[in-house]
Amino acid sequence: MKKRRWAAAITEIFLLVTLTVGCRKADAGVRREGIALDTVVSVTLYDTADTALLDECFALIQQWETQLSCHADGDIGRLNAAKGAALTVAPETAQLLSEALSYSRLTDGAFDVTLEPVTRLWDFKKENAVPPAQDAVKAALAKTGAARLHVEGTTVRLLDPAAGVDLGGIAKGYIADRLADYLRKQGVGSALLDLGGNIYALGSRNGGDFRIGIRDPRDENSLVAVVTGQDCSVVTSGSYERGFTYQGCRYHHILDPATGYPAQTDLLSVTVVSPRSVDGDALATACFVLGKERGLSLIASLPETEALFVTKDGSLAATEGLRYTLP
Ligand code: ADP
Ligand code: MG
Repeated sequence: MKKRRWAAAITEIFLLVTLTVGCRKADAGVRREGIALDTVVSVTLYDTADTALLDECFALIQQWETQLSCHADGDIGRLNAAKGAALTVAPETAQLLSEALSYSRLTDGAFDVTLEPVTRLWDFKKENAVPPAQDAVKAALAKTGAARLHVEGTTVRLLDPAAGVDLGGIAKGYIADRLADYLRKQGVGSALLDLGGNIYALGSRNGGDFRIGIRDPRDENSLVAVVTGQDCSVVTSGSYERGFTYQGCRYHHILDPATGYPAQTDLLSVTVVSPRSVDGDALATACFVLGKERGLSLIASLPETEALFVTKDGSLAATEGLRYTLP
């Protein structure tokens, strides 16, 4: 949590500096930061001072978190507790599950929303955390896979009583999109949503681009790049975000669905820039698992989607259309 606070703080400091430096007119904006979605969330509205909108944003985040978290009693919590029985969920939940399944297909299973039996075994937040027993991981892996989740209309079903759904790799993106939609409907034309590094830049900033700093995975006080854009999502997945060290080995929270263990790739982080945050979130997680080469070619095959890869050897690789500057 401390790390995430820093990550969020860096982005914020950077943005505040750029907006102070680059701003001629006085800003009428409001900003609120809070803990939600298991991370630090901030909402900044630049063209209104209406704090009631901030109240509503945080209320909506909480409502959607309950709906989608595997640790709450909303749709996903109920699905995981249903032991294979069919369940009716909200149309939005069914839609998100369908999209998550299509990402499993698109990424050859690198993104797997049915990884819950495995993610349940890992506790990355506990003090003195230890990796789960190999047998337990193996048994849990046998309960995963997109084929075990069935969605038809608003009826969803897990085809194994021990199967489960974990939307942790896609929910923040989905919530960012919905929040942006809500704010647009309220007439907001310039806002920045930061759901723990899952950033959405709504509209334009002082009539131009937003500038979003991408953290150096090796140094929380530095940036590796500054992405520029408007009405876009900028999502980063990295091994530095959450994890623990046990017997000299680092275990992080992005798991390889093929092994049930932290993905071992040539990457430290992946940033995906896309119109929709739900896509960016799923893709950033998937690309981290796939590694640089496969990740680059996946992103290159998708329209309006760009990415920046930071590799373990310290180099940067960006897709052709990425708009960014070096710090
Ligand atoms: P963050 O939550 O830090 O933004 P990600 O979007 O990459 O990072 O999501 C990681 C979370 O997604 C994990 O905490 C876990 O709940 C879930 N997860 C882990 N590995 C995968 C995977 N290969 N596919 C789908 N979800 C995953
Ligand atoms: Mg993700």
